Amino acid sequence: MLQKIFDSIMFRPHVPLPEDPRNPKVTTGSVIFGAIIRTALIITIAFFIKERFDVEHIWILTMFAIWGIGIFPAYKQYQSFHEKVEDLQQTTLCGSCKYFETSGQLCNLLDEHVSEHYLPCEGQGWEPRHLN
Ligand code: SF4
Repeated sequence: MLQKIFDSIMFRPHVPLPEDPRNPKVTTGSVIFGAIIRTALIITIAFFIKERFDVEHIWILTMFAIWGIGIFPAYKQYQSFHEKVEDLQQTTLCGSCKYFETSGQLCNLLDEHVSEHYLPCEGQGWEPRHLN
């Protein structure tokens, strides 16, 4: 949990780190979680500054900070995640399987994350998507 918060605050998903194929760092949930945590921190800091220093136009600055630090990075992370999932759909067996959940990069049958290096069912559970 603390590592997740730290990753979110640090925008770590943009840094190419070696990733555990069973536990991807970026999913739709992690992007939203990061945006919420950053926004909450910004608002907390803004209240602190307002109470202590009575800075003029603090709420306008806060709005810019929420956009620039909270929301825009989340938007970029989601775009990058979406491109990655599209690649997975094109290059893996899971991409054509009815159990593949794109929003979480997840196999719904086994409730595990899918990656280009990890196919949870090893092909045994594959069923074509068009038969849904
Ligand atoms: S059942 Fe197998 S092929 Fe289908 S999404 Fe899950 S791991 Fe991939």
